[in-house]
Amino acid sequence: MPDTIPDLPIQRLRKTGLRPTRQRVALAELLFGRGDRHFTAEMVHAEALSHGVPVSLATVYNTLHQFVEAGLLREVAIESTKTYFDTKTSNHFHFFFEGDGELEDIAVENLAVENLPEPPEGWEISRIDVLVRLAPKRPKNGAR
Ligand SMILES: [Zn+2]
Repeated sequence: MPDTIPDLPIQRLRKTGLRPTRQRVALAELLFGRGDRHFTAEMVHAEALSHGVPVSLATVYNTLHQFVEAGLLREVAIESTKTYFDTKTSNHFHFFFEGDGELEDIAVENLAVENLPEPPEGWEISRIDVLVRLAPKRPKNGAR
């Protein structure tokens, strides 16, 4: 795999109209240009520190939310206390590995959502989020 194209993250930032501050650029360089990824703010914070980018966790949170609003990232809320961010912003679904806390993409073609109820008058469906939660198989009682 070739390394990141150096100006790509900055170009992405510029297109959104977000001012390319040093911290935004540093975080964009960490997050984009290495394929699609899922991460939490804590993971980004640890990664930033290990790359010598001095940012606080609060700044990481704020920046990630700005990136979401600008359409650079998609937010995947697992629980009220656990939010992942996704560099793949197009429509797709997720497997969630409980325990590991890992997310894996499910292509839209591989899942059909049927028999959706008609939305209330004046409303339309804007997006459907599907999170398929996975747990390790447990041996059945008395199976051994
Ligand atoms: Zn995803």
